[in-house]
Amino acid sequence: MKHPLAGMTPEELAETLRLKPFQGRQLFQWIHRRQVFQFDEMTNLPKALRTHLKETGDPVRLRLLQRTASARTGTCKVLLALPDGETVESVLIRDGRRVTLCVSSQVGCALKCDFCATGLAGFRRNLEPAEIVEQVLYLLAGEELYGKTPNIVYMGMGEPFRNYGAVTKSIRLLMHPEGLGIGARKITLSTAGDVKGIERFAQEDWQVRLSVSLHAANDTLRSHLVPLNRRYGLADLRKALLGYQAITGRQVTFEWTLLEGVNDSSRDVRELLAFLRGIRASVNLIPWNPVPGLDYAPASRRQCRAFLDQLTECGVKATLRREKGQDIEAACGQLRRIAGEGFSPSSP
Ligand code: SAH
Repeated sequence: MKHPLAGMTPEELAETLRLKPFQGRQLFQWIHRRQVFQFDEMTNLPKALRTHLKETGDPVRLRLLQRTASARTGTCKVLLALPDGETVESVLIRDGRRVTLCVSSQVGCALKCDFCATGLAGFRRNLEPAEIVEQVLYLLAGEELYGKTPNIVYMGMGEPFRNYGAVTKSIRLLMHPEGLGIGARKITLSTAGDVKGIERFAQEDWQVRLSVSLHAANDTLRSHLVPLNRRYGLADLRKALLGYQAITGRQVTFEWTLLEGVNDSSRDVRELLAFLRGIRASVNLIPWNPVPGLDYAPASRRQCRAFLDQLTECGVKATLRREKGQDIEAACGQLRRIAGEGFSPSSP
């Protein structure tokens, strides 16, 4: 099997492919910085070397099956085929000139949060570092960034802490100065509350941000919405986050998907406030994005505002996220694995 080149550092490229160190850097620059995926276009590499590379490595492994853009919001979704016929989805979101890329860390998801589309089709496998990085490269290829570096959020399909090694390797590749050079503070990893992952993440020597999908701040409700809570309850989660902040000094973002009549009342706000006590936090409120077959409704506009106002009045930094990708099924929780719907690695 050929080597997955997008998952390697310049040094690893040089060593694996027996290149001179500067050629490892050149190859890395072509793939990451310029998103050139054809060896023949890598004009500063000698021809004989390009022939050798063609036989031994793949600049990218994923194939672009579909690119869907929303004319209304500028959001763009790509459907990518993995070498084994699985598929993943990734999203580019525009907010003025700010660009955010939302990438998947697994094919499907094992956590089965009650309101999320991704878990419905089950868990298939972890993504490799190259397969995570390539989502970013495909999203960026051909996009106008107006000189701004994009933000990266690990908020697509999957639980990043269940694929810890590959996810952190992909982060280091995205930050690499010979490549995209994305600043650590522009990268956010989102977890459903995997305490072991949070403890490990706290030890990383970087400024990458952490986001926690909370959605409920009492154990009964949270265990229903986010079954992982049965393993790591709110008390454990709080303790892990306090530990994380003691070590890193960094603020934590909390995601709260507002479900009508489920977690959108003032009592829910009070429970959230109690949970946040002593944690340096900001809260992202997201009205639920409808998923066919799931019996929830988005909280009303008025309820969302009230929730937001109540938090802000108590001095908590909070934002109500405007929905961006619903028209192309690219909004939070709408990404899914296309299982048996006619996509195979050989289809166009
Ligand atoms: N497993 C990680 C990464 C996924 S992030 C995590 O849970 O954090 C995706 C975010 O969207 C999570 O906060 C998830 O709970 C939320 N979400 C899932 N389905 C949604 C839906 N239908 N509408 C709005 N948000 C949703």
